[in-house]
Amino acid sequence: MKIKTRFAPSPTGHLHIGGLRTALFNFLFARHHGGAFIVRIEDTDRARTVPGTQEEILAILKRAGLTYDEGPDVDGKYGPYVQSERTELYRKYAEKLVASGHAYWCLCSVERLEKMREEQKKRSEMPKYDGHCRDAHCSPEGAVLRLKIPAGRTIAFNDAIRGDVSFASNDVDDQVLLKSDGFPTYHLANIVDDHLMEITHVIRGEEWLSSTPKHLLLYEAFGWKPPTFAHLPLILSGEGGKLSKRSGHAAAIDYFEQGYLSEAILNFLVLLGWNPGGEREVYSLKELIEVFDLAKVNKSGAVFSLDKLDWLAHEHMKQADPKRLVKLVEPFLKKKGLEPPRNLADILRVEQQRVATLSEVGEETQFVFVDELNYKPALLVAKKSNTEEAKDRLGKTQAFLTKLSEKEWGTATLEKKLLAWIKEHTLGNSQTLWPLRVALTGREKSPGPFEAAALLGKERTIERVEDAIQRLSS
Ligand code: GLU
Repeated sequence: MKIKTRFAPSPTGHLHIGGLRTALFNFLFARHHGGAFIVRIEDTDRARTVPGTQEEILAILKRAGLTYDEGPDVDGKYGPYVQSERTELYRKYAEKLVASGHAYWCLCSVERLEKMREEQKKRSEMPKYDGHCRDAHCSPEGAVLRLKIPAGRTIAFNDAIRGDVSFASNDVDDQVLLKSDGFPTYHLANIVDDHLMEITHVIRGEEWLSSTPKHLLLYEAFGWKPPTFAHLPLILSGEGGKLSKRSGHAAAIDYFEQGYLSEAILNFLVLLGWNPGGEREVYSLKELIEVFDLAKVNKSGAVFSLDKLDWLAHEHMKQADPKRLVKLVEPFLKKKGLEPPRNLADILRVEQQRVATLSEVGEETQFVFVDELNYKPALLVAKKSNTEEAKDRLGKTQAFLTKLSEKEWGTATLEKKLLAWIKEHTLGNSQTLWPLRVALTGREKSPGPFEAAALLGKERTIERVEDAIQRLSS
């Protein structure tokens, strides 16, 4: 049978980083097995649906490169399935459950249900519908539809990650399947769609584990074969406890906006629960598709670490194609008010060895983007040197550099020529190169003088050295 997975987010707020991990695992599993991956928007809870979040979810999937294989036609491309456009269907299936005696209409008022729950609480019982309407044959008008959970059963299944899991049916609530507004609840719509869409593997977060017995009973009631379930471990914050909205690291969009490369975000997420074994940790999306294996997903909670993300981000940044980075970095530079220069790819070649995120680009190489440097002349003087010496070296360097041709203007050649010349004339490396580097960058810490000169080009380099000499003379 062809493997098919789905990502089924509810658009009720920013996509949680754990949601993106769920999407990734479903995508990887399907792709690894040559199967299909679909996206389904579960928006039947009208009260909780937040406008704009469906768009955000889809935009993030696109940015992350998690493409899907089928769906309704939207502008000539596959769109996601959207449950609110399919409500008729769920009603039809709900009626079947009524007819077969697996579901019943319930007219209990909110007040009655509240009172019931309070009394259960007083008796320290688990809050659960008491079955008041089970045999009452309520009319469907204004009623909710509930699943009739059979008493005294053990509901067991084999989870692809957690192994054998079982629940006592007596602990399971008579779940509402249709609300009084006619909309299905998540449980009904989710099962009907998973069946009709021929989903073979449901890979989702651990928080859904307790819903699984209800889902299995629904499959049984319909007479359908359930898919394989795999429940991913919780994501724990570094301080212990679940990674929550409050911890500030929960929204997936934030990571993209902070300038993490998508391959770094995905690599980070896959390691939250999946461990390939061995030392290797850095993988591209393509490599992940090759090696991903559901059997290697852990069931214990995965601890979230920003340091780990930064490390992975830097590794991916170093490997990224500078030409691709040019496009990606432009919006970040614009946000800083920096105009992208023509030799941006060259700048990125230097920057990518130092930074972890796109938003850091331009911090250390700001000197290339600006016309005027702002620094104190004293910074031009190396330790154990003096103003006269700095001025002397800058003058000599200027004369030497002027004689070099444009062709020789590259980091490696500049390094070779300058070092040989310094040695020949015993000018001293630090006495000569420190003032040169500061003249070019205006900073105490920056890329080295050869890289800086190469990025600036001959004309700007000579101008900056001249400017430094003037600063020391006044
Ligand atoms: N709509 C559910 C969610 O928001 C889907 C859960 C599932 O995958 O079954 O996560």
